[in-house]
Amino acid sequence: MPLDTLKYTNGEVTVVWKPKTCIHSTLCWKGLISVFDPRVKPWVNLQGASTEAIIEQVSKCPSGALSYYLNEEGKKVDG
Ligand code: SF4
Repeated sequence: MPLDTLKYTNGEVTVVWKPKTCIHSTLCWKGLISVFDPRVKPWVNLQGASTEAIIEQVSKCPSGALSYYLNEEGKKVDG
């Protein structure tokens, strides 16, 4: 079964990626290549930037394919 949702975490924040929703706008990796790098697998590396920078970039995803929630609160925040 293909994966509809992939999750990546740094212990503080969890980034959720929905490949079927991604429109490949390239915004995420052009904006934060240290975290979002389509040339490597897994393509999301949450050790690559601060939680704040990750959240800021996730929030710019135009399709809603990327979202995040803070692990502490366990609450989903629209990204
Ligand atoms: S910014 Fe969003 S839509 Fe664009 S490539 Fe990244 S995940 Fe896909």
